[in-house]
Parts: sequence; C-alpha cells; structure tokens
Amino acid sequence: MSLELRGIVKSFGDFSLGPINLKIESGERVAVVGPSGSGKSTLLRIIAGLTPPNGGAVFINGTDATKTEPWRRGVGVVFQTPALFPSLTVLENVAEPLLSRGVSKGEAYGRARDVLVRLGLGDLVHRYPAQLSRGQQQRVSLARALVLEPQILLFDEPLTALDPPLRGEVLPYIYEASRGRTVLYVTHDFEEATFIARRVVVIMNGRVVADGDSVEIFENPPSSAVAEFLGYSN
Ligand code: ADP
Ligand code: MG
Repeated sequence: MSLELRGIVKSFGDFSLGPINLKIESGERVAVVGPSGSGKSTLLRIIAGLTPPNGGAVFINGTDATKTEPWRRGVGVVFQTPALFPSLTVLENVAEPLLSRGVSKGEAYGRARDVLVRLGLGDLVHRYPAQLSRGQQQRVSLARALVLEPQILLFDEPLTALDPPLRGEVLPYIYEASRGRTVLYVTHDFEEATFIARRVVVIMNGRVVADGDSVEIFENPPSSAVAEFLGYSN
C-alpha cells in the first residue's frame, strides 16, 4: 500500500511540525532521520492515527485515512520500548491484537505461533516478557505488529533502547519483516538509516530538509545544518 502525507501540520507549544508532504510508493522502504526533538515520532504517530494532525491529510493507498481509527489503517507500529503485557505469556501477548478484534481463540493462537516461529521465538512462546532479553522482547513486539499482517510497517527507533550487541539480534528480523511491505523507519542515527533504506528523509526542526538517496545526501548535504547532523565538521 502506498502512503502519502499532504500538508501535515502539528504544533505543541513552541514546536511546530510541517507542512510535511511525502509520498512513499507501495513496497518502498524509507528511513526518516533527524536529531532528537525534530518531530520524527510525532510524524509517525500521525501516520499511525495515534496523534491527530492540526491540518493536512494522510492518504493510504490513495484514500484519505486521516479520520480512520488506528487499528483500521493496516498500519503496524514498533516502538522504541516494547509495550508488552507483563502478566501474559509471549503467545498470549501476540494473540491479543487478534482476540481483541474478535478472532477465535484457536485461530488467534495459531497465527500468533506462526509469526513467533518466523521471528525465531518458537521455543519461548510460554515464557513471560520479564523472562526474555530486551532483544527478544523487541522481537515479540515486532510479532505483535506483524500478526495483523499490516501492509505498512512503521518503526520508531526500534534499536535505540537496546545495547549494541542486542541490536544485531533484532535487525535481521526487522529486515525480514520489511520485505514486501511499505516501511517508514525512524532513527536519529544516519548510519542505521543507511542499513535500512536507500531513500532517506532528513527532518530538522519539524521540516523535511533532505529527501533522497542516502549516499547522495551524505556526499552532498543540502545545507550546513544537514552536514553537521551527518557528522561533518566545517
Ligand atoms: P523526535 O521523535 O524527533 O525526537 P518528537 O516528535 O518526539 O521528536 O517531538 C517533537 C517536539 O514535540 C518536542 O519538542 C517534544 O517535546 C514535543 N512533543 C511531542 N509530543 C508531545 C506531546 N504529546 N505534548 C507536548 N509536546 C510534545
Ligand atoms: Mg522520537
């Protein structure tokens, strides 16, 4: 499914995001990078329907989805910190989004188990979140997003809260899950962005300041602010 943002604006006090215009083709993978506080999470939450914009529209597959409830958008989100139910097993956590949508128990647990096996968690389905490593917990939260088979997958700094050794344990699964889906991957780390996507959108102070091939942006930053963010000294 394609994703298009038309004139998205949002403000919080002194901070203002947008207007953001962005078009992502069906099956395209795009990284959104920018310093802390530049509005990346806000943009993601607007796409997911978790934060209403002050103006503009989100089009999913050519249809205005701005007023569509989050769970009806076909959009899955993986956040920085896995939000799992501590009192539910891994399997119950992943089945929950299906059960709460009226899918029968048998089918929900079957589908949850299939997704967990694909994420290399087949042996851990009866554990509780606290019994897992942070990397495994993040894979469970990826499973929770995938169990609804979203066509669009959004990531908000999914590796940031993990110790570097654990990142390599999660990244391949993010890669695998991204295949064949439309993906927006938010990170404050340009290098991480280049692992995920060739197309990189740079956001600073709520505005898109670069959008294009990561190598071209790196070699020819459009402004000194972008150059500084990329780690040049000038
Ligand atoms: P990023 O993800 O790039 O670090 P955010 O989108 O989280 O940036 O935040 C952008 C700005 O909006 C920040 O100044 C932040 O404090 C502010 N902000 C984000 N969410 C809220 C909120 N719910 N209420 C008030 N201010 C917010
Ligand atoms: Mg953020």
